Amino acid sequence: MIVILKENPDQAQLDGLLQWLEERHITIHRSVGSHHTILGLVGDTSSLDIDLISALDIVEDVKRVQEPYKNANRKFHPEDTVIRIGNLEIGGGTLTLFAGPCSVESEEQIVGIAKAVKASGAAVLRGGAFKPRTSPYAFQGMHIDGIRLLLKAKEATGLPICTEIMDASQLPLFEDIDILQVGARNMQNFALLKALGKTEKPVLLKRGMAASYQDLLMSAEYILAGGNPNVILCERGIRTFETYTRNTLDLACIPSLKTLSHLPVIIDPSHATGKAALVPSMAAAAVAGGADGLIIEVHNDPAHAKCDGPQSITPAVFDSLAKKLKRIHDITRGDREYD
Ligand code: PEP
Ligand code: MN
Repeated sequence: MIVILKENPDQAQLDGLLQWLEERHITIHRSVGSHHTILGLVGDTSSLDIDLISALDIVEDVKRVQEPYKNANRKFHPEDTVIRIGNLEIGGGTLTLFAGPCSVESEEQIVGIAKAVKASGAAVLRGGAFKPRTSPYAFQGMHIDGIRLLLKAKEATGLPICTEIMDASQLPLFEDIDILQVGARNMQNFALLKALGKTEKPVLLKRGMAASYQDLLMSAEYILAGGNPNVILCERGIRTFETYTRNTLDLACIPSLKTLSHLPVIIDPSHATGKAALVPSMAAAAVAGGADGLIIEVHNDPAHAKCDGPQSITPAVFDSLAKKLKRIHDITRGDREYD
């Protein structure tokens, strides 16, 4: 349920309403907009009398929210969520480029790529240390050594780090990591999502390969309901009958998710296509379509990459792509309003 308050509500009446709701074990999320404050009510609201609340002087309107996701719902929080990491702002009309290899392979590799993508305009370094591979015989990542190398790359460039966490027990290893990636295969690892909800770290939540928008938003809800508001949604392609591309990139998710939710939406054209040659055009389409950012696999030697070489672009291709994306963003930003 959402309660839209009138402008400048009487404080004593508001305190009375809040107390009355708290006595009924309702959790209240306040969203202060430029004109109105919205109270998002979470909990068992079925017994609340909508007419009673509507009749209060301080109340403009009361609506039931049908969707099962509440905290992630734009009705609860009409303004875009902006996630801040130092001076970096993700969401709210900005364009943030995450770039780096699928997996960390050596110090030379990760620091070299970090310097290159930073020079081209990337704001976040991506790189996997713990890799969720389909085959147990494939390279599984450098684990804690990979985390150490990512932190060296951060020291060398100042770029914040985004890397995948596969299990809640790994959290202590990620203390100095800036953005925790939850991979497509772990989107419904509810124990992990609950543990991330208890942290304040930004989480990049990837859409499962057979997950609907509602499934994705319900997974985000686990993190938000735990008290962590810093969730970034990421589309990385879904499974369809098409086999030419590794997955099928669902770009309609951008306006859809941004209508349904206030959370930033970023696109991963690398896993979505599986082909380096397709990455630039899909990245461009995503920016034109209103994405808040992109996460792109970049490797200095794709032919010899330990993981996902065929979909990795080189630093040189990333450099020209980043320039093009900036131009597209400059033309299209501010075009859209979601409500
Ligand atoms: C990755 O980012 O390298 C990765 C494994 O992604 P996904 O979970 O989307 O497959
Ligand atoms: Mn990958």
